[in-house]
Amino acid sequence: MMTIRQIVNSVYSSCSYVLTQDKQSWLVDCGDVDQILPLVEGKLQGVLLTHAHFDHIYGLNNLVSLFPGLTVYTIMAGFNGLLSDKLNFSRYYGDPFIFDSPDSVKLVRDGECISLFEGVEIKAVATPGHSPGCVTWVTEDAIFTGDSYIPGVKTVANLPHSDKELALKSEALIRDMVENRSIYPGHAASNEI
Ligand SMILES: [Zn+2]
Repeated sequence: MMTIRQIVNSVYSSCSYVLTQDKQSWLVDCGDVDQILPLVEGKLQGVLLTHAHFDHIYGLNNLVSLFPGLTVYTIMAGFNGLLSDKLNFSRYYGDPFIFDSPDSVKLVRDGECISLFEGVEIKAVATPGHSPGCVTWVTEDAIFTGDSYIPGVKTVANLPHSDKELALKSEALIRDMVENRSIYPGHAASNEI
């Protein structure tokens, strides 16, 4: 049985999630590494990114230095954000962040499935709009929506590179996919980015 634990990060209350089963772990988005580490069980297999805005990725350099060989999964537009403090907005918030291990990124296609644990697969669904690199990650019981859909919060689609129409389409797609799944969004109570 997969366990999912939420971390509310210090930057903009973005959320990271540690997924564990059978003494193995995966991470969804990477904020405060000091909060993440105590929840990691056994080997950290990889990081799934919902998108590459800085509040969802700023811990990655630190994390990769602690877990050499770690793989980070995103789509092409997310990859671009990892490598540009302009695209990931960090340069405008006084703490420029550029991911320094581009070789550890594995690009996924829309609809691609990744095997997380014995009997647990997760599907990457491109949900652009909030950012061009948004991915919603879907398992049989859980859906990690990042900032593409946060229940009770209007999806932010007025940022540079946002697309309002696409954001609405993606939100509708996500609502269709929720069904009986638990929703794990990209921000806790207060949503800023
Ligand atoms: Zn965002």
